[in-house]
Amino acid sequence: MFTYWDCDYLLPQPCDVAIIGGGFTGMSAALTIKRFRPRWHVVVFESEAMGTMASSRNAGFLCLGSPTELVSNIQNYGVPVVEELLRWKIMGASLLLHYLKKTISIYHKSVGYEIFSTDFPEPDRLNDQLVVLNGMLRAAGGPAQYFTKMQKAPGGWSPAVENPSWVRMAWEGQIHPAAAVARLRLQFQNLGGIISTHHPVTSLEPDSSGVLLHTASGYIRSRQVLVASNAFAAKLLPKLPVEAHRAQVLITNPLGKMPFRGNVHFREGYMYSRDVGQRLLIGGGRFLDFAGEKTDRVGTTDRIQDYLIEQLSTLTGMRSDELPVADRWSGIMGFTPGRLHPIMEIREQGMVAVAAGMNGMGTALGPYMGKKAAEMLIQEREGRAIHLPQLGFFPGSLKSSRVLSKKKSKEEKGLE
Ligand SMILES: Cc1cc2nc3c(=O)[nH]c(=O)nc-3n(C[C@H](O)[C@H](O)[C@H](O)COP(=O)(O)OP(=O)(O)OC[C@H]3O[C@@H](n4cnc5c(N)ncnc54)[C@H](O)[C@@H]3O)c2cc1C
Repeated sequence: MFTYWDCDYLLPQPCDVAIIGGGFTGMSAALTIKRFRPRWHVVVFESEAMGTMASSRNAGFLCLGSPTELVSNIQNYGVPVVEELLRWKIMGASLLLHYLKKTISIYHKSVGYEIFSTDFPEPDRLNDQLVVLNGMLRAAGGPAQYFTKMQKAPGGWSPAVENPSWVRMAWEGQIHPAAAVARLRLQFQNLGGIISTHHPVTSLEPDSSGVLLHTASGYIRSRQVLVASNAFAAKLLPKLPVEAHRAQVLITNPLGKMPFRGNVHFREGYMYSRDVGQRLLIGGGRFLDFAGEKTDRVGTTDRIQDYLIEQLSTLTGMRSDELPVADRWSGIMGFTPGRLHPIMEIREQGMVAVAAGMNGMGTALGPYMGKKAAEMLIQEREGRAIHLPQLGFFPGSLKSSRVLSKKKSKEEKGLE
């Protein structure tokens, strides 16, 4: 239970903003508020002990999406929705890189590939769509000619894929997800923020001073709350259209010779593989058992894990016994059925904000959604329009936010 000391120093009642969820979304919101409203008392509650349910255990691709994934998104949701999503990812990735300060042990600049075998239908059609995608990306503030044309992969790239072709993406980031979350937490704490891990919030209740957050250790009063618990958001806000889905990955032991370097995507983004030093990581395969993987429980299954190793063998041309597995794990993602965008809303007279359902793209998207949520909360509290400056640069982009606003605004200087 909370003691007098806890409440006097860590959890003054009411605090200004309580954030539920310490992943990329919650930490970005927390950092934004502390940076631009340094005197506000901000507390983050995270139910996991060390990391998070997705951000710190994911595959570490900082990316905008593979070509066929984006084409399929356009078919399902239309150009404006996808263009907006790309804009958000570009701003989110820039923001994350700004926070990570491009630290070599956390972020590695890489390239991306989508790989196809000879039986890929209608390559000319894909090439036309790539021209459209490049235009959309440019309009969204990204670099020019981000996607190359589909072309033959260099000889011997993958002996097991018949005549492989690829589309190359000019930039993709590789991050160390646990180190990235730890870095965000450290920065927030350095600004005077409080993080309470291993501390699930069990329910929310309106209160005269704002919102009452119930936890196993007692309750906390807060003027405002941000629900950034992604896959678990509907547990606190029933009827919120966010579903929990599991994702599984595995990583090999160090390999003598690396068959490839970079981020590799295939099967419309459902499969992904990358190098991690001398190791290879592969993830995906949810389509093998969509029903079984629609769960909020971590765990791995033989069916998907066997498929992952089989696919890694196909990709690399190496036998599965040449790919010794060092670790297998899973995490839980939040999906918003029937829509591409996450849920981003403010409710209860501006006291509760929601930024959840990152649809498996939260490394780039979450930081932007967190910043937007912070902006919404500040705006509600102060009763005036707030536009916080965008921080960071997107690699290779001419249209960086700093170029757009060279002069440091009052907000940027963090003044109240
Ligand atoms: C295995 C795997 C691989 C992935 N690979 C990639 C990738 O390469 N690139 C990419 O862009 N995306 C990837 N994703 C998706 C990405 O990780 C997520 O979209 C992103 O991390 C979501 O961030 P978030 O902060 O919104 O949510 P989370 O990281 O899930 O953070 C929300 C947190 O809220 C906590 N929480 C839940 N309920 C409560 C409560 N009641 N009280 C307190 N805390 C609570 C949870 O423990 C959780 O840690 C992957 C996901 C997984 C699982």
